[in-house]
Amino acid sequence: MNYPSKRNVFNLLILLLLTGTLIALIGTATKDREDGILLHFFDVGQGDATLIETPQNQKILIDGGPNDSVVSKLDKRIPFYQKRLDVVILTHPHADHLAGLIKVLDSFKVKEVYLTGVIYTTPEYFRFLEVIKEKNITTHAVFDGDYLDFGDGIKLNFLFPQKSLQGQKVDNLNNSSIVAKLTWGEKSALFTGDLEKEAQLQLLNSGIKAELLKISHHCSNDAVSETFLKKVDPKYSIIFVGKDNMFGHPTASCLNALKSTEVFRTDYNGDINFLMTKEKISHLN
Ligand SMILES: [Zn+2]
Repeated sequence: MNYPSKRNVFNLLILLLLTGTLIALIGTATKDREDGILLHFFDVGQGDATLIETPQNQKILIDGGPNDSVVSKLDKRIPFYQKRLDVVILTHPHADHLAGLIKVLDSFKVKEVYLTGVIYTTPEYFRFLEVIKEKNITTHAVFDGDYLDFGDGIKLNFLFPQKSLQGQKVDNLNNSSIVAKLTWGEKSALFTGDLEKEAQLQLLNSGIKAELLKISHHCSNDAVSETFLKKVDPKYSIIFVGKDNMFGHPTASCLNALKSTEVFRTDYNGDINFLMTKEKISHLN
């Protein structure tokens, strides 16, 4: 009779151990998502980067922050054997929303990019558009009325800009920002880019009510129109802001406007994570 050698037993144990680890890894990577939509507001310094993960594991990145730090944040959420993003949205091409996306397009397989198509002439934006071309990534210039359907009743509706800005020059790039509303059942989250007060007033009749509001423009003085805030009526406010930033963000008047909401800030809280279901939105850490 042939008995397994010590070496074979050892190899078998290693194999079992590796299989177990792999199953555990895949389990952890997919477990949270079955419970709902995950919203991650990454601490990338003075800039914006939001990752949305749907229960069906679609991954949507809104803006990429001012540097490459978004890539290591994404690496923690996206297993090495996937390395893909379904949707990348650039709200507007200012560097604090754009710069990190160049490395993202290089490091991840990105299916589609959504932007406004506005004209802006900085080296970063040229490079971003160049990488899109090199990698043959499908792009869509979006405006009010366009939407993405992620199944299960989960929708991302684009509310702003109100008309196509493709090939247009604008005076104030902040006010060209894509505004998008994520809805599932009774719950919504509103993402505003850097849209300033005056432009927010154009959205008052756009069904903007949302339990979670990503505050515009790093909570500067022009970030929150009180009329707009009243219409959104958020329970939670999220502020992307760098520690000791040179702009003095968030300003006292902006924070004061948000006092009826529960405020989360990337400079204090680091990465901010929320879970969204059809019935509730809750903070995770
Ligand atoms: Zn910004």
